[in-house]
Amino acid sequence: MFITFEGIDGSGKSTQIQKLRQHLEQKGIQVKVFRDPGGPVVSEKVRELLLSPNYEIDPVTELLLFSAARSQLMAEKVLPSLEEGAVVILDRFYDSTVAYQGYGRQSVPLPEIHKMNSIASHKCEPDLTIYMKLSLEAAKKRMSQKRDRMEQAGDFFYTHVIRGFDKLAEQEERIFTLDATLPAERVHEQIWAIVDNSF
Ligand code: C5P
Repeated sequence: MFITFEGIDGSGKSTQIQKLRQHLEQKGIQVKVFRDPGGPVVSEKVRELLLSPNYEIDPVTELLLFSAARSQLMAEKVLPSLEEGAVVILDRFYDSTVAYQGYGRQSVPLPEIHKMNSIASHKCEPDLTIYMKLSLEAAKKRMSQKRDRMEQAGDFFYTHVIRGFDKLAEQEERIFTLDATLPAERVHEQIWAIVDNSF
């Protein structure tokens, strides 16, 4: 089973991924967790480039770099793990590219972003996606002061990113929207109910 977590920064994805991993492992299920961008060495190097505040990156280049990191992650980690029968959990996937590079940057038309996502994912779709929904106001309260290159973007950008996630959640049946402001244990219970139901 292929599960992805989406949401803006500070929405609590990492905490929920950890909780889900523990719960699945307690049931004796093999679990592999990766982050996108990241995972294999090549993708981690691309991540470093993307997040470094030291570089100015053109928006089309940014789209291609996120996609390149994702393709390597799929080829080297995700596809072989799914083949082995593991549950694969990804901290972000191509919905983030629609939201951030598509709705946020608005430099490449959405149909082209979707085409790129199909290529970079090796045409592999998540079975289910957990969208941790958080308002910009709530996210701002949670965000750390130390910001990476992407997090330096302003409110206008993040408003569009949130709209992008909301739109995707309306359009895609695989996406389940959860209220990220609820206590972590409550959110986990809801996630577990969704995952358990999908086996
Ligand atoms: O969630 P994570 O810490 O891995 O994301 C790293 C940074 O990259 C975050 O600031 C996130 O907003 C940004 N990002 C992005 N476009 C993506 C994926 C992540 O701008 N497709």
